[in-house]
Amino acid sequence: MTDDRILSSNRKPEDKALDYALRPKTLDDYTGQEHVVENLRILIEAAKKRGEPLDHVLFYGPPGLGKTTIAHVLANEMGVNIKITAGPSIERAGDLAAILTHQRKGDVLFIDEIHRLGRAVEEVLYPAMEDFALDIVIGKGPAAKNVRLNLPRFTVVGATTRLALLTAPLRARFGAVYRMDFYSLDAMRAIVTRAAAMLKVPIQPDGADEIARRARGTPRVGLRLLKRCRDYAEVRGDGVITRELAAHFLGEMMLVDELGLDDTDRRVLRTIIQNFGGGPVGLETIAASISEEADTIMDVYEPFLLQQGMLDRTPRGRMATINAYRHLGIEPAGDPSSQPPLF
Ligand code: ADP
Repeated sequence: MTDDRILSSNRKPEDKALDYALRPKTLDDYTGQEHVVENLRILIEAAKKRGEPLDHVLFYGPPGLGKTTIAHVLANEMGVNIKITAGPSIERAGDLAAILTHQRKGDVLFIDEIHRLGRAVEEVLYPAMEDFALDIVIGKGPAAKNVRLNLPRFTVVGATTRLALLTAPLRARFGAVYRMDFYSLDAMRAIVTRAAAMLKVPIQPDGADEIARRARGTPRVGLRLLKRCRDYAEVRGDGVITRELAAHFLGEMMLVDELGLDDTDRRVLRTIIQNFGGGPVGLETIAASISEEADTIMDVYEPFLLQQGMLDRTPRGRMATINAYRHLGIEPAGDPSSQPPLF
């Protein structure tokens, strides 16, 4: 299924140019995630003081929050090269071996979607991360020999949307693990305003605020909304993004409401409430009811609905909270024991 939602936090081809142009280059430029940034400063300073490469670092959290960006920032701050790859693209152990033998001392190897690495590939990664060594087998049959190749000390920066899917041995090889959170409204306002200035898009502070509010705490979404508002302002307005223009375009034409929920978010909630009495209902059942992929719901929609207190995850399934009923304007029905949870 193609992901054509304006609010999708998944990376789309059209985001590529923006990603490059707007990525902050230093920790000072990096807005938000203060807790992570502060910790990274210490990590970098300590590594520099010892004259050693950075420890392996893992970032986890929903897509679009800046995991790839911060990996670039880390490499830049350390003054080293970065090689970008992703779990699904390293198909065979040999592919990883080829990448590793090209790393230079201190270089960063960024592995996106690291939870999707194959088992055989992971087996190669363990000694590489721990002992900076590559174990290879030369020859076949009884004459085969194990050879250990030393690698320069390098840094793996891993990113995942699903920490729980990482194997324990892989997770244990990261010296630092950080969770990326949704950005505050202030941070989103700053990100949208900075991007507008860099793209030379005329925008009023109220207009930036309107976009920031609907961007579900996700820089990738904020930047995309900004770009679409710019197009609309150029074609239907006088080129300036005002609050009225952003609210009209996003709210009435794109159907993104004031909280940043779109039609699919509302369908998820409405399905739970109207088809399953408010829940609990399993993720697969919700996915089937609205013809979405369970994985997409889990990675893209659910984290924001949970954070907004609209959804509750229980051992028996997902439940709509009282906030969801209120937001959709639906009256909770039935006996008090089946009332939606208060959030
Ligand atoms: P992820 O790897 O978590 O999916 P990315 O690092 O690709 O997310 O970030 C998505 C977009 O958001 C990029 O275009 C990047 O420029 C922008 N971005 C991310 N974090 C920030 C930030 N803290 N400040 C400004 N822009 C950011």
